[in-house]
Amino acid sequence: MRITFFKYISLFFLFFHCTPNSIEIDLVVANGSLIHLEDGSISKGNIYVNNGVILGVGEAKEFPNLNPRKELDASDKYVLPGFWDNHVHFRGGIGLVKDNKKFLDLFLANGITTVRDAGGDLATEVLTWRTAINNKTMLGPTIFTAGPKIDGPNPTWEGSLEVTNEMEVAKALDSLGGLQIDFVKLYDSKISSEAYLLAIKEATKRGYITSGHMPYSVSFQEAVKTGLGATEHLYYVFKGCSSKEQEITDLVDAGEIGFWEALQELLKSYDEESAERTFELLKKHQTFVVPTLHIMHTLSYLDEEDHASDKYLKYFSPAFIKTYQRRINAAVNASEENKKSRKSLDSIFRSLNSKLDHAGVSLLAGSDCGAYNSYIYPGISLHKEMAALVQSGLSPLQALRTSTFNGAIFLKKEGDYGSIAKGKISDLVILNANPLENIENSEDIYAVLKGEQLLQKQDLQKLLSN
Ligand SMILES: [Zn+2]
Repeated sequence: MRITFFKYISLFFLFFHCTPNSIEIDLVVANGSLIHLEDGSISKGNIYVNNGVILGVGEAKEFPNLNPRKELDASDKYVLPGFWDNHVHFRGGIGLVKDNKKFLDLFLANGITTVRDAGGDLATEVLTWRTAINNKTMLGPTIFTAGPKIDGPNPTWEGSLEVTNEMEVAKALDSLGGLQIDFVKLYDSKISSEAYLLAIKEATKRGYITSGHMPYSVSFQEAVKTGLGATEHLYYVFKGCSSKEQEITDLVDAGEIGFWEALQELLKSYDEESAERTFELLKKHQTFVVPTLHIMHTLSYLDEEDHASDKYLKYFSPAFIKTYQRRINAAVNASEENKKSRKSLDSIFRSLNSKLDHAGVSLLAGSDCGAYNSYIYPGISLHKEMAALVQSGLSPLQALRTSTFNGAIFLKKEGDYGSIAKGKISDLVILNANPLENIENSEDIYAVLKGEQLLQKQDLQKLLSN
């Protein structure tokens, strides 16, 4: 057979000049052990990334056309979707903006590529950061924010929106709509039971996801049935586990007892059958629970534990650290009886958490880091929360899922986040050791990929040292 000149040239291009349709892309994370949070399986493979999106996952031979400009060798590493901290706060007034901005570095340095901001008084700054990060003009985790919280008149937290009736609820939601918030956060310092339920109802009607505390003047069942998307902390689920919930609710509503007195009554009337019913209700309504075990423990032991040598203290200004004093004073000055009951509540909540998990209720890992929340540092505290979840009885896989996988589902972002798959945003964390064997390995970070931005050891160090 005679090879014509034309055929010779074509063969030359085919064999010696790559394939004619070779596509240049940004990055391949090569040969890592990929952890699939969907089912806990691990596969060995490459992740091809371009423009902040995963183009393909698998063996090199499946992608002969992709020609990465950069390769990150992950051969003895474990790769999983970037962590989500599902409960953080940017707050503390304009004087603490710099401290709050520092959070962003600390999150990324700890592998946290997304945060859910559960409301505060720095909405303007947070919204600016959110936009800049989305537009890639600033480096930081993706922020999903509630903006200002909804509460009653004269609320505890600065910047909250005060509502007492239908008109004010509508006005508050209009203003949150103007801010293009990602979900609605409710707080319980002064809000009436009527206004609280109205806010959930109206927010849900407008298509918002809601999460919140809950006044003890509302029954937990009613809040869930009205559409509360997630219940923050375990105080409110715990209320739903009492055999005397309605009586206690009525007493609080009538102003005859307050929150702490009610809590004592709830402790005496915890009931397995009521608990089972509440867990079933949560599952039926797909309501998430944010246990925040690490902060519960830390605050319960503020009177005993010395945090003076915590290594994260150095990242914050004296003015920021001063906000910690409010809770410290309250803990130190509490009666001996109160100190004891806080500590017993801490262990009761851990066992409640384990029951929630066994019952199949969806949990979200959130640290509650922010000004005023003493010694709950941004970044590292999410890892402490996952460790606390494991201590309470979750498997490491379940704990990891409560961060990234469930976080994405709760905010209806599972199309973009939560697993290593083609088409998802390339937010990845690359670990030196397997977190499924020991959850503490989640802290042993080799590299972080935030969209297009690859952060290796010295970049991560720089985020911590700036
Ligand atoms: Zn909080």
